[in-house]
Amino acid sequence: MNFKILGGEISPFSPPVDPPLPGADVLNTPFLEAGAATVHAVLTSSKEKTEQLQHATEEDPELSMVKTYLKEGWPSSIQHLTPEVRPYWNIKSEIHHYEGLLFLGRRTIIPKAMREEVLMKLHVAHQGITSCQRKAKNTIYWPNLMEDIKKMVECCQTCQTYQRSNTRQPLIPYEVPTLPWENIGIDFLYVNGDEFLQVIDYHSKFIEVKKVSSKTAESIVSALKQIFRTHGIPKQLHSDNGPPFNSQVFHKFVQDYEMKHVTSSPCFPQSNGMVERSIETLKGILFKVHQSHGDPNLALIEYNNTPKQNLPSPAEMLMGRVLRSLTPVKNILLKPKFPTTKTLQMLKQQQREQKEKYDKKSSSLKPLNVNQKVYVQMAHRNWSPATVIEEHQTPRSYIVQLENGSEIRRNRVHIRPDNGIANDNLQSNTENPEVNSPTTSSPSGQLPPSNNQTTPPNSPATPVRQNERPKRLIKRPIKLNDFITN
Ligand SMILES: [Zn+2]
Repeated sequence: MNFKILGGEISPFSPPVDPPLPGADVLNTPFLEAGAATVHAVLTSSKEKTEQLQHATEEDPELSMVKTYLKEGWPSSIQHLTPEVRPYWNIKSEIHHYEGLLFLGRRTIIPKAMREEVLMKLHVAHQGITSCQRKAKNTIYWPNLMEDIKKMVECCQTCQTYQRSNTRQPLIPYEVPTLPWENIGIDFLYVNGDEFLQVIDYHSKFIEVKKVSSKTAESIVSALKQIFRTHGIPKQLHSDNGPPFNSQVFHKFVQDYEMKHVTSSPCFPQSNGMVERSIETLKGILFKVHQSHGDPNLALIEYNNTPKQNLPSPAEMLMGRVLRSLTPVKNILLKPKFPTTKTLQMLKQQQREQKEKYDKKSSSLKPLNVNQKVYVQMAHRNWSPATVIEEHQTPRSYIVQLENGSEIRRNRVHIRPDNGIANDNLQSNTENPEVNSPTTSSPSGQLPPSNNQTTPPNSPATPVRQNERPKRLIKRPIKLNDFITN
């Protein structure tokens, strides 16, 4: 095939400082004009998906109008456009038509009929609003896309139910390693009855996961060897100092592979903060994917493909390219590009800013209003819809009513408004969970981490005293101590 890239669009690796909106990062027109490539060479989607996209674009009244204007010229003023085509007016110079598809720069314009499907794919890892938006900005486009993403995430039942905790711990800054896969953190996580070994690269935040049958040194060493065979041997390996990392077998492995093993105490997991935070992120992804019967492998690809604020995605940081997933992207994004010193400077800068922002935000949560719709945390990663009844005399406490009519008292830290995940101080959780999110451990007096499910918390809420709420029954099982039954 006479497939040739014309011009120098393999730009030096320069991550978008701000969202490349709209179509700022234009695929060279000569490429599109070359006409030698088929659309399958332009999109990463399968032939069938591409055809489906072409067909839906063809059938889409809005996009058909855009196509006509592209061919015959746009009217002289926006006033002459029908309202549905008006959003394309300001970006018209960046729109290209190619083999039945429309592109805004590198982004594929998705016809209405396929938007819902594309949104689902974008959210397959159940990441927050900002993460999903960031990913979309590089790959797809339609008017109101950002709003639609926000709505979709806010309405995602799985995300609402298994939101992470409000509680925060101080952000432990870590040195950013200058090279990819130079410095990695390893740990275990346990989700839905399965044990996983998680490896995170401290430079790119790229996550590798392997299911392990046991936590013996032999099985962990074998899993790590398989991962290293793909990525190479890191210089430094961080873990806690518990078993199996303190075993002879593991020590020998570290020696044989000429690595330095840095350990932290399991009692003070904060000292291995980054791996702890990424575990929390990953646990969330795996758990939600399990709950929604999704494919954890696809979710992990999406996670590793998600750009980090003004930085490229973990996949780009580690491998110099975006990984092919089920979201339609232009092939050009899959071409390797390599990070520059500038990227590294930005990485360090971002780390400083995150620390400042985090410290500022972790101070206080907004007060709630009577009758406000909220979610209350019932256990670790388990939130139930409720309504605020009144503020309790104990500072920062509220009485809320659950959907089943029962009333409970909760500290503000275990309540979040239900008007969107990105609200309140949860924002940075959704923006950059693996860096900003709290670890699994909670400060004393907060919700104990439970195994994901429905165990009622045993400490955070206390029963409302009878003289305050005289109509309530007070006889109840001890384990439901914090419930008030009507
Ligand atoms: Zn979700």
